[in-house]
Amino acid sequence: MALLKNTITKLTAFAGHRGIASLSALSETHQMLQKTCRDFADGELKPIAAKLDREHLYPRDQIKKMGELGLMGMTIPEEFNGSGLDYLAYAIAMEEISRGCASAGVIMSVNNSLYLGTIHQWGTREQKEKFIVPFTSGERVGSFALSEPGNGSDAGAASTIAKEEGNHFALTGTKSWITSGYESEAVVVMATTDKSLKHKGISSFIVPKPIEGLELGKKEDKLGIRASSTCNLIFDNCKVPKENLLGKPGSGFKVAMMGLDAGRIGIAGQALGIAQASLEVAAEYASKRLAFGTPLTKLQIIQQKLAEMAVRLESARLLTWRAAWLKDNKKPYTKEAAMAKLAASEAATFLSHQCIQILGGMGYVSDMPAERHYRDARITEIYEGTSEIQKLVIAGNLIKELGLN
Ligand SMILES: Cc1cc2nc3c(=O)[nH]c(=O)nc-3n(C[C@H](O)[C@H](O)[C@H](O)COP(=O)(O)OP(=O)(O)OC[C@H]3O[C@@H](n4cnc5c(N)ncnc54)[C@H](O)[C@@H]3O)c2cc1C
Repeated sequence: MALLKNTITKLTAFAGHRGIASLSALSETHQMLQKTCRDFADGELKPIAAKLDREHLYPRDQIKKMGELGLMGMTIPEEFNGSGLDYLAYAIAMEEISRGCASAGVIMSVNNSLYLGTIHQWGTREQKEKFIVPFTSGERVGSFALSEPGNGSDAGAASTIAKEEGNHFALTGTKSWITSGYESEAVVVMATTDKSLKHKGISSFIVPKPIEGLELGKKEDKLGIRASSTCNLIFDNCKVPKENLLGKPGSGFKVAMMGLDAGRIGIAGQALGIAQASLEVAAEYASKRLAFGTPLTKLQIIQQKLAEMAVRLESARLLTWRAAWLKDNKKPYTKEAAMAKLAASEAATFLSHQCIQILGGMGYVSDMPAERHYRDARITEIYEGTSEIQKLVIAGNLIKELGLN
């Protein structure tokens, strides 16, 4: 999007005077994007994240501003109203936004990779004009519906039916845990046209919302990411025009799995943001808090904790950037995206846990953000494939690469 590009151009000129380019090995464009997102998170997300969480408020205005910055369709080409950036840029932006507010992070992630990315990869030109172009500005967001009450990890066992009738498919069944389910204005849905074919009978559809035959379930009362909505989508003879079939009939499982590969880079970025926020809170508190007459940062056991936190965070960040780099360079990246998501989500859980420990009692109350980071971290080990499923993906690919059974 032009706005983000303009911002980057201006900041590049500015950075030349300030020597920001020496921060890391990232390109100047990526560093400028990082700074833009960090400033936005510090100014617009961090100050309100606790209130959004406490009151379960969807960050509508902030998502619109993120759209204006070009963050809601980052890897979509400019031709379709996107920012035309790469997945490394996306991973960096996801981290910075989630460092400010992990709920804004998941809304951004689902819209960018699972919704827009999937339609961009598989959609026709007409589908892209209709379901991508209006969804990159932050005015509208999309959802992705794979999970069902009876099957999450075993996504190939979808039981939502899509019955072909004349010029439409009639969808009946329930999709569960759908992020942005309340606010989204379109959703990519996986449903089976032939259950006997198991995962090969699944097709994917773009369903505009609201639509007759689709009801929303109750808003889930979650442990974390409470400013994002999660609900069931209940389809009852919901008639979806045939032109909304995404990809070929029977390719829905592949569509979903490839969407999740890319999505995992985003969730890894979200986890890095939570972990980075936890490290910053812990280090700042430790530098000011006195115990036995000395700042906590002078105590070796606290130093050891901070060191271990920093190592886990940086390792996960490198895995995430590597997965993004592989995708950007059109190399296989399924295993690396699973590694990144596994490492980053475990880092987020570890760092947010240690952060509470370093803060002591102050870590346990909502006056400080540590307890929110701890609650937000937990979901990153569950959605877009649990840690157990990431290990299956990693081991499966590893065994194949080694030429073994
Ligand atoms: C807040 C939130 C938002 C979500 N957003 C979305 C969304 O937008 N769209 C969407 O489609 N889904 C979404 N999900 C669903 C999410 O992806 C699933 O919850 C997740 O994939 C796990 O599925 P499940 O909950 O059915 O657990 P199950 O599959 O029942 O797993 C239960 C446990 O068994 C383990 N397990 C399962 N199979 C195996 C195996 N073969 N080997 C070893 N262990 C195994 C799991 O790792 C887990 O520990 C969301 C979930 C939540 C909580």
